[in-house]
Amino acid sequence: MVKVLNRGLLALLLAAVGFAAFPALSHASHSWGGYHWARTSNPFTLKLGDNVSSTWDPILAITSSDWSQSTMLDTTIVAGGASSNVRRCKATAGRVEVCNTTYGNTGWLGVASIWASGNHITQGTVKLNDTYFNTASYNTPAWRNLVMCQEVGHTFGLDHQDEDFSNANLNTCMDYTSNPDSNQHPNTHDYAQLELIYSHLDSTSTLSAAALAAKMPPAMRNVDLSEPRHWGKLIHSSAGGWKETYELDFGGGHKVITHVIWATDEDDDADRGHEHP
Ligand SMILES: [Zn+2]
Ligand SMILES: [Zn+2]
Repeated sequence: MVKVLNRGLLALLLAAVGFAAFPALSHASHSWGGYHWARTSNPFTLKLGDNVSSTWDPILAITSSDWSQSTMLDTTIVAGGASSNVRRCKATAGRVEVCNTTYGNTGWLGVASIWASGNHITQGTVKLNDTYFNTASYNTPAWRNLVMCQEVGHTFGLDHQDEDFSNANLNTCMDYTSNPDSNQHPNTHDYAQLELIYSHLDSTSTLSAAALAAKMPPAMRNVDLSEPRHWGKLIHSSAGGWKETYELDFGGGHKVITHVIWATDEDDDADRGHEHP
């Protein structure tokens, strides 16, 4: 019953922001809007800043190793640049910062944000919400692996392969599910999609910090995404709103895109409806 009400609310929001203009994702291709890191050669190495607690460290290591099996990219775990304030999880140019803390009863398990100039990703963040991972329902290696793997996967420019949480698992972390058991790691289709996204080379690289930060509008560099109301406008929603994408547009092709996995607890539905900006 609560879900139906929320769907109604979503329909109104979507109508207001012109959802129809945003193309639906097909299962054959799950690039996230064509966003990718610029690089002059392949395979490239993306740094993952470790701002996570010891509970999450082995999960981050699994995710890093899983995605590094791609022929196009390797990830390497480095000391985090956001450890002093994991709630904010401030981004660092040219890499992805990964943070966890008790972000509260926000309704979301994980959030990935990417900063883009044109099609090129310049920095990213992943936030993992211990308010849920500290509960019996989500405090399992399977849920932790799925959410870490999926949110980091988004920062490469991957979207979901499937957004129906009640159908059979596709055996990839990029598949929405209510049972994470077989969805803890990427599958061959994810690696194939990365080959498509990164088949071309660019004349510049967005993987090094120095040159990048200067090019970014100051407001974009300093944006604080710790509250949903700062995420910008809702541009994509699916599967009854279980997955949503928000966009902040700084003009001149500079954008911050935030992707959310909402918790699937029935109890969270009411809260979730109120989170929408
Ligand atoms: Zn490119
Ligand atoms: Zn997702």
